[in-house]
Amino acid sequence: MTKRMIPVSEPFLAGNEEKYVLECLRSSWISSLGRFIQEFEGGFAKFSGSRHGVAVMNGTVAIQLALAALGVKEGDEVIVPDLTFVATANAVRYVGARPVFVDSEMGTWNIDPEKIAAAVTKKTKAIILVHLYGHPCDMGPILEVAEKHGLFVIEDAAEAHGAEYKGRKGGSLGDVGCFSFYGNKIITTGEGGMCITNDPALAERMHFLKDHAMRPEKRYWHPEIGFNFRMTNVQAAIGLAQLEQIEKFIAIKRRNALLYNSLLQKISGITVQTETPWAKGVYWMHSVLVDEKEFGLSRDGLMQKLKGKGIDSRPFFFPMHQLPPYQGNGSDRDFPVAARLSMQGINLPSSVKLSGDEIRYVCDAIAEVQAR
Ligand SMILES: *Cc1c(COP(=O)(O)O)cnc(C)c1O
Repeated sequence: MTKRMIPVSEPFLAGNEEKYVLECLRSSWISSLGRFIQEFEGGFAKFSGSRHGVAVMNGTVAIQLALAALGVKEGDEVIVPDLTFVATANAVRYVGARPVFVDSEMGTWNIDPEKIAAAVTKKTKAIILVHLYGHPCDMGPILEVAEKHGLFVIEDAAEAHGAEYKGRKGGSLGDVGCFSFYGNKIITTGEGGMCITNDPALAERMHFLKDHAMRPEKRYWHPEIGFNFRMTNVQAAIGLAQLEQIEKFIAIKRRNALLYNSLLQKISGITVQTETPWAKGVYWMHSVLVDEKEFGLSRDGLMQKLKGKGIDSRPFFFPMHQLPPYQGNGSDRDFPVAARLSMQGINLPSSVKLSGDEIRYVCDAIAEVQAR
């Protein structure tokens, strides 16, 4: 059917992106001052149900900035889901603290709330939650554990712009929400990120730290060591144009998920990511688990067959405890669910541009591979 390879993800840039970027070029406001920064910060924070936005240069430093602003430092421990993108764990290391991994739960594929308390020690300062592939974590019990032990809650919402937990937006439920605007995320600025918070003092501290910790009223006076994590006006220009379309993107992603799920649920050995009753997922990636025994082919085997049919896909992340820098933090036996999800999971084509015909083509291809 299709001649081009159906990609896993490609950005949709047909709104005001070009117009706003041209405005940056023509006005020469291309660095980190300019109208688009504040408009994007304010607009995205508002969209996400939060009061303050602090734009930064990528999602990884957004997490680092949140940790630094909350005072997490060497000698501290931070609870992190074992199954996530490596940036979540690395950001903890960048501030000198130690990530302590917790296994996932089978239903949402997110951190298992029931396994968090056992990982808390005297050194634990914070929990970083990840709303994996766009489905929010079960926040109620997690916030309870955090409150009981006096822990900060950072939401790594890099994959979950606009996702909802009981009607409240992902990123707005903890102390700080961290977002990524990398090219394949729900909205993009090329590279980019943002921290959101309802706490004005924390927002001010993040603005201060991201700009070399310079006192706004005293130029070149730096009372401590800060960072240059600033976003450019050009990135924010793209971001603002993307933000104007975010509701549309999410509606398309949810519609595509319905079609994918209705077609894939019929195939034995394939499990889709389903929405819990309290959640609104944004389906950053349309993801499935492949049970080799039931499906009749391994996950990697299926990916290879799909490639042959012009369909690109990605495996799930490796669990953190398997990566060389984090080996020694546990074994597959300690994280059985994360290990299993990582082995069985695939991200299927997930672009906003994807047509219904392409989704049907992908699902037919999976069914056909099994039939052989
Ligand atoms: C993309 C992503 C990040 C990092 O974002 P960058 O903008 O690439 O630095 C962090 N955490 C998760 C879960 C992500 O998916």
